[in-house]
Amino acid sequence: MDHFLIDTHAHLYLPDFDVDRNETMQRSLELGVQMIMLPNIDRSSIGSMLDLARRFPHNCFPMMGLHPTSVRDNYLDEIETVKSELKNRPYYAIGETGIDLHWDTRYINKQCLAFEEQIKLALQYELPVVIHARKSFNEIFEVLEGFKNNTITGIFHAFSGDTSLAEKITGMGFKLGIGGIVTFKKSGLDEVIRNTDLKHIVLETDSPYLAPVPVRGKRNESSYLHYIAESVAHIKNTSAEEVAHITTQNALSVFNKLAV
Ligand SMILES: [Zn+2]
Repeated sequence: MDHFLIDTHAHLYLPDFDVDRNETMQRSLELGVQMIMLPNIDRSSIGSMLDLARRFPHNCFPMMGLHPTSVRDNYLDEIETVKSELKNRPYYAIGETGIDLHWDTRYINKQCLAFEEQIKLALQYELPVVIHARKSFNEIFEVLEGFKNNTITGIFHAFSGDTSLAEKITGMGFKLGIGGIVTFKKSGLDEVIRNTDLKHIVLETDSPYLAPVPVRGKRNESSYLHYIAESVAHIKNTSAEEVAHITTQNALSVFNKLAV
């Protein structure tokens, strides 16, 4: 494939890539993944994320946010850090944020409050939100309902729900972040993709997690994004080039602070 792809979600700054981060970037660029959006996790990840963004200023673009699984009793301190970061330098989205009730439900109230705070920041800084939703769609929608008179845009990252959930999300103006799960047999995502217009879809790897077939189970990296584009193309009965073209335009419209 010869074209311009955007990995809308990759944690290439994590220690998983310490041994070969430059080579990983090189492989991604060679396969057309020219822009990579870096979602933050919490205070501990900011330094390494910004290092990578500084080393590849034309390719790697940082987001600022607090990941729901990092929400603890001290979440207000973490939110303060997010606020001061947003004041101090440019970021391209609020993320990743959201609610995760798969691993731990003890902090459900704090997760909701942290998510709400971050949506306010997205509105204040006119940034899209990158949402992590795991066993938490009702809670997520409830928080978003409180902002229904505002135009919030963004992505439901690592989407793996059914068609009616996809319709609800795209009807609210959000994109579906489609990653390696689409290549897994029995994911059910093929039916969702068949029923969803490509204009609602952006591509992501979620590196180092969720590597697509045929590298499933390995460390994921942005150069594997083409497997996801090819899988979506196969389901839609179109070319990977067409999928790349449309999803890149979609990503550029969401991350509208990117200058191409
Ligand atoms: Zn992530």
